[in-house]
Amino acid sequence: MARPTPELRLAASLPTTQTIEHTVSLARRIREMEASPTQAVDAKAKALKAAGEPVIGFGAGEPDFPTPAHIVAAAQRAAELPASHRYTPAPGQPVLREAIAEVTSRTAGRTITAAEVVLANGGKHALYNIFMTLLDEGDEVIVPAPYWVSYPEQIKLAGGVPVVVPTTGEAGFQATVDQLEQARTERTKALVFVSPSNPTGAVYPPEVTAEIGNWAAEHGIWVITDEIYDRLVYGDTVFTSLPAVAPDAAPRTIIASGVAKTYAMTGWRVGWAIAPVEVAAGMAKLQSQVTSNVCNVAQAAALEAITGDQGPSEAMRQAFDRRRRVAVDALSAIDGVSVFEPTGAFYVFPSFESYLGREVAGRQIASTLDLAEVLLEEAKVALVPGEAFGAPGYARLSYALSDEDLVEGITRIGALLQG
Ligand code: GLU
Repeated sequence: MARPTPELRLAASLPTTQTIEHTVSLARRIREMEASPTQAVDAKAKALKAAGEPVIGFGAGEPDFPTPAHIVAAAQRAAELPASHRYTPAPGQPVLREAIAEVTSRTAGRTITAAEVVLANGGKHALYNIFMTLLDEGDEVIVPAPYWVSYPEQIKLAGGVPVVVPTTGEAGFQATVDQLEQARTERTKALVFVSPSNPTGAVYPPEVTAEIGNWAAEHGIWVITDEIYDRLVYGDTVFTSLPAVAPDAAPRTIIASGVAKTYAMTGWRVGWAIAPVEVAAGMAKLQSQVTSNVCNVAQAAALEAITGDQGPSEAMRQAFDRRRRVAVDALSAIDGVSVFEPTGAFYVFPSFESYLGREVAGRQIASTLDLAEVLLEEAKVALVPGEAFGAPGYARLSYALSDEDLVEGITRIGALLQG
């Protein structure tokens, strides 16, 4: 029997296609799709915890803070209004689309209009809408690795072909124009550009962002830029929106973002895509047939999040910054673990390569997939192996968890690895 893919091994505790395809003939698009490994690790860690296991979950990129009170209060008020109980426009309520346009205009280097904004059920759904609206069968999309788990699967779902460009920690986890040019073919339709990056925390400097944007513009390539971590940058690092430094790329740039990470709102499911009006209209049409409007109560919460007091979200950013330094120091102190210092998002992506081919807790470790299994079973620590992000040898730890859990979890990793 073929060796299960990383994603299916990770998702083994979930009712994936692997467990149901024997009795039901599922569509090929679902049979061939991998379950989300980040979701799988998170679900497994939460289930073990609920069962009383002392698991520390570094899995999902999810702030441990509650959503700020003023945002929750806005949702409560909205829930009382009969207007919230009715359908609203599929691409989103005008007031929220306008607010998103206004806020994004400050970083995108041009004035964005509400007609370009299409709300979705989270950033992930916004990305799905983008790929479905933009790609035809066989269109190639360049995806630098390490990449977030859902890009390749969503591209394939839309009939596209992900073309992976690997990058390393030594190269700052940044793709170069030379690499992108080597990956370009006549079928190249788009590039996925992510900065700050999930899973590495790397942030492209403005000049490299401009080079990449200009390259895309020169070749008529669309840029799908995932800006969900735009506000989570640390130290002297600045966030650069690609169209702001490469204006020639702007007419073919689509921005994906949402409130989940900045405002501790992962469960509210409000994201958006900002695209040229023709593409935005296409996404709105798709959404009119698939989901209709995003939950009105969640839209009210998102409006308060982006237009209201930014103090609580800044306080969370500062907490992430502190935890980032704690995580980097603690991981760096473990023998054989090399750590790329993240300057954005809330992930650290260390290399565990020196442990491959060795024994840990009496078990042979052939891959970071094996290592993740051993860490979960023996140390009760959940992290996401690099295989899930197209980067074997590494693993992703989210540091958006409490200070105590962060220290305790990394201490357990160190104790297990150093025997
Ligand atoms: N973006 C988060 C992560 O990478 C959420 C999990 C997911 O939906 O994949 O962990």
